[in-house]
Amino acid sequence: MPLARARSRHRPSGDEDAILAAGGRCMAENIIHEILPVGLLQCNCSVVGDPQTREAIVLDPGDEVERILEIIARHKLTVRAILNTHAHIDHVGGLKKMQQATGAPVLMHPDDLELYRRLDTQAAWLGMEAPARVEVDELLREGDAVRWGGYQARVMHTPGHTRGSVCLYLPADAHLESGKPPAKLFAGDTLFAGSIGRTDLPGGSFDLIMRSIHSKLLALPDDTLVYPGHGPTTTIGEERESNPFLRSL
Ligand SMILES: [Zn+2]
Ligand SMILES: [Zn+2]
Repeated sequence: MPLARARSRHRPSGDEDAILAAGGRCMAENIIHEILPVGLLQCNCSVVGDPQTREAIVLDPGDEVERILEIIARHKLTVRAILNTHAHIDHVGGLKKMQQATGAPVLMHPDDLELYRRLDTQAAWLGMEAPARVEVDELLREGDAVRWGGYQARVMHTPGHTRGSVCLYLPADAHLESGKPPAKLFAGDTLFAGSIGRTDLPGGSFDLIMRSIHSKLLALPDDTLVYPGHGPTTTIGEERESNPFLRSL
């Protein structure tokens, strides 16, 4: 489920990070990062790969798994893990196909397992057919390290949009070999460009999402690139300065 109120803000949301990361120099790619909006609600699925080892993770394969697999094949990637920022249907709908195609483990925060079990109820909200469920292979918890290729990202438990919502933080110095690309935050439906995640669905809490954003996300460096679960890419600094939901406090 997407944001509380979508605001149209025109900004590129594709490979701009690769350009930023390269810093204008013609060095080998620092990171492979493809963002693909999938499904009815246009959930941003991310494929994040190491150009040296060709290992990758996939975040939020909500739908259109064939298109996600095309990206993986085009970059000749091996998927090491399939991560879910939370268990809303638009983020988890493609898990079964993705798991079958890649054999990679599915990871989710335990506090969203109940929501995941109610995928058929979620499908009914949207008037769609319920996608097949999978067994969740591993649980994501606050502070967990997720490693693939030369990268190590950190799990941040950010409840509020759902109980088990997480963000994944890839620090600027995470890559062992290359320069210093900006840090990346995969924010799920917790923080958007100019908005925050809705909290009126089961398991939602406005107090909790504000606490999560203020205590954890706004503690990150201003130049951290934020990849929300829907809509355009932003930065922590931009949201700190101009997001109306954050300025009001
Ligand atoms: Zn969503
Ligand atoms: Zn959601």
